[in-house]
Amino acid sequence: MRSKSIFSKLLFVPLLVLFTVLFFSLPILSQSKPSAQAVDEEYTRLIKEATTKPEFLSPLTSYLPRVEGVPTPKDVLGYIAGAPGKLTYYEDILKYMKALAKASPNVEVFPIGKTSEGREMVVVAIADSETMRNLQKYKDLMAKLADPRQVKTEQEAEAIIAQAKPIYWLTGNLHSGESGAAECSMELAYRLAVDDNPIVKKIRDSMIVLITPSVEPDGHDKHTDWFYKYNKDVTDSSKITRVPYWGRYTLHDNNRDMISISQPETQSEANNYFEWHPVVVQDNHESIPFLYVSSGTGPYNATYHPSTTSEWNLIAWWEVTRLTSFGMPGVWTHGFWDGWAPNYLFSVANNHNALGRFYETFGNSIGNTIERDLGERRFGPTSKQWYMPIPPYEKVLWSIRNNINYQQTADLQAFYFVATNKEYFLRNFWRRGSEAYKLGKNESPYAFVIPAGQKDPVDTAYLVNLLLRQRIEVHQATAPIGVEEGSFPAGSYVVRMDQPYRSLVVNLLGIQKYPQDAPRAYDDTGWTLGLHMDIKTVEIKDKAIFDAPVVPVNKPVKAKGEIVGGEAAAAYIINNGTINNLLSARIKLKDFKALAAEAPFEVEDKDFDAGSMIIPVSGASAKLHKVVQTVAQELSLEIVSCASLPEVKTHELDIPRIAIYHTWSSTQNDGWVRFAFDQLGIPYAMIHKDHLKKGNLKAKYDVIVFSNCGGRRGADIVNGMDPEFRGSLAFVKSKEFKHLGTPDSSEDITGGMGIEGVTKLQKFVEEGGLLIALQNPVRVPVDYGMVRGISIFDTSRDFYNPGSLLKAEVANCKHPIVYGFDKEIPLYRSHSGPLLRISSEAEKFVVVKYASEGEVCLSGIVKSPGEIKGKAAIVDVPVGKGHMVLFTFNPFWRDLSRGNYMFVFNAILNYNDLGVGLQE
Ligand SMILES: [Zn+2]
Repeated sequence: MRSKSIFSKLLFVPLLVLFTVLFFSLPILSQSKPSAQAVDEEYTRLIKEATTKPEFLSPLTSYLPRVEGVPTPKDVLGYIAGAPGKLTYYEDILKYMKALAKASPNVEVFPIGKTSEGREMVVVAIADSETMRNLQKYKDLMAKLADPRQVKTEQEAEAIIAQAKPIYWLTGNLHSGESGAAECSMELAYRLAVDDNPIVKKIRDSMIVLITPSVEPDGHDKHTDWFYKYNKDVTDSSKITRVPYWGRYTLHDNNRDMISISQPETQSEANNYFEWHPVVVQDNHESIPFLYVSSGTGPYNATYHPSTTSEWNLIAWWEVTRLTSFGMPGVWTHGFWDGWAPNYLFSVANNHNALGRFYETFGNSIGNTIERDLGERRFGPTSKQWYMPIPPYEKVLWSIRNNINYQQTADLQAFYFVATNKEYFLRNFWRRGSEAYKLGKNESPYAFVIPAGQKDPVDTAYLVNLLLRQRIEVHQATAPIGVEEGSFPAGSYVVRMDQPYRSLVVNLLGIQKYPQDAPRAYDDTGWTLGLHMDIKTVEIKDKAIFDAPVVPVNKPVKAKGEIVGGEAAAAYIINNGTINNLLSARIKLKDFKALAAEAPFEVEDKDFDAGSMIIPVSGASAKLHKVVQTVAQELSLEIVSCASLPEVKTHELDIPRIAIYHTWSSTQNDGWVRFAFDQLGIPYAMIHKDHLKKGNLKAKYDVIVFSNCGGRRGADIVNGMDPEFRGSLAFVKSKEFKHLGTPDSSEDITGGMGIEGVTKLQKFVEEGGLLIALQNPVRVPVDYGMVRGISIFDTSRDFYNPGSLLKAEVANCKHPIVYGFDKEIPLYRSHSGPLLRISSEAEKFVVVKYASEGEVCLSGIVKSPGEIKGKAAIVDVPVGKGHMVLFTFNPFWRDLSRGNYMFVFNAILNYNDLGVGLQE
């Protein structure tokens, strides 16, 4: 996908030359504090006391200036940033930032949105007072540089660059166990506002720094409560326990949402990016010794501009070199991560022509100082490497203050590098957009078309709205379009390539080909949105697409909802079409009878899929008509009225009582399931081990969805966290710990469902319940003998299926689970789930299997594909009066795999009629 193109012709100065020029152009400034400025002696003493070795301190953090009238963190909190044994609640961090802003003309705090639990998210802007008075001017200049249609020539760009200031946005504490950046942010903001050290002064005078102290404040407060409740006295890192939930829906995956931008926190982040257009966005994480600066190892994302990836390396080597010259050990780059997937929070910058990067600093997860043994788990190299001039120590007494010294020093060095080379960074930001636009105008592909009239108009609209959230420009055809690739009806969406975010269009709508010889990927290797959502998108190589009659789409779109044919005499019909809203519709129509067609049929000259919903008119038809009308409009469904009932075999669709089950040891994946259900307005009970153990499940639920979770064996899932490890752990809200206990709570999160829970689940199914296991939980029914003739298939070491999009095929076309689906279906799968070995007797239970012929991988990579070909993807096993439906993939993947939800929703809709699919 990387085109040979004008990239290299226009822009590429050989990196080495540039690097040398930039380095030598940097003035060698004294790193020690100028004597003119007073020092806060006590704060300075406390910094030194909290630092465990002199080399863990730098000349930039070894003191704190004292300026009359401007509060230090200690003035507000009562302790310094990084005081041993302290973590700061989010409201106190905000309190400090607001006090600082009130006292200093160089600081202002702006709200950027609310978290899912209602906490205020902020960005703290810092620059000299003159700049602060003119922030709008600088925002406007950056917005111009972001759009090559506004700034067409090098000369025009240079005129703006001469007036503009680079904006550098630093965020931290995205992962709630990584508290160092949140604590650091307060002192960093103070230092940037007042320190007259020439390095800091240069930053303040030349650029605008934005700091978001925590991008997951909900999780930050939960983690802080948990620290004071359970970890306050822990001095052995192996004894630290972790809070089970952070945000309402996401745990670690809050750093994988920048493709869909689905969560309120990610939405605030993205909107703030487009408000300021920073040239650099940096997330400070915390996982490895002592400071890793991201540059990746490759393979780099194929659509990223070459200057993006080379600038990752450029800045990284500056930080490594500077901190190493201070004598700080363990500062390194080139490792840890690849640079392939575009879903991380900082990707908002890389995806939009700026630079997105991150640090991994070393933290103890809690506020305590702890003796760490780096050999205890794989942290990365501890010997000298070409990319790590001084290795970290094998054994080290580590404090949160050490972490703050490291990240603050590196942050300041990175800011300083951009401040000193500001024209360079501003120019390249403009050039990347300008080249993308020219490339889109002059080189194929010229567009992607999302044709109108697809079977699922709701997800078609969802895809368009996702592109709009990314600020990708989308047009809509006002008349039919004819190009070499075919003709498309009026109403089709056209994503033209002559736009500044052209590369992102290719990134999201194109096919990913992860290199065969590359090392294992850090995250997903394929994310093609059309495949994820099972929506047709067509790459257009015919330049005539530019002449198509289109109008811009300026606001989110909604599929049309209507009743075709007025008030029905006999029935209303909603086509299945794998439209997720079909289940929502059944719930909204709960007071009325509804039927599912067991085969495709035709009525009123329209074709309907098997699984289409037929709502017969009887008795109180006026009320029905009213509700149907609301359903059509609210759920964007086309509902057809007909004068006589269609002649097709049907069964009744009963209203299911649904539960979503989660374990306490892995809570990431149930969040995405709940998010999908909440978005679609599908009610459910959130249940865990305590509910299973109580039993009597069939009296309460018809369907239990067992969310994906970790565990190498069924026993890991059944046993849960070891209750012997630290004793019982209550995740409940209390007066003292008011942030705990959401979105779910338990008096004791240790231990699992146990054999007792397995038995209760078995009984639930035998009494007629439907258990749906999403990926890894299939180990429970298989390992515990709840299903016969099915065992785990052990793949070889060569088999490699990281997150990729695969081709699957329907094995049993009569089964309700595949109602509405085509014969061939794209689906998302990652190798963390097991594959199954199916006996010949159980073969009849296979509903969907991975492609048996041809290429199984559609986007991403699958190595040793022969091991997955023809294997079961979905199995429906009747047990007693009920069913167990086993998925060997996770159909609820990060708000992306919307084309797969309907497998689950079809199963739920037809929960007590799945047998119709298994009849001979
Ligand atoms: Zn992290």
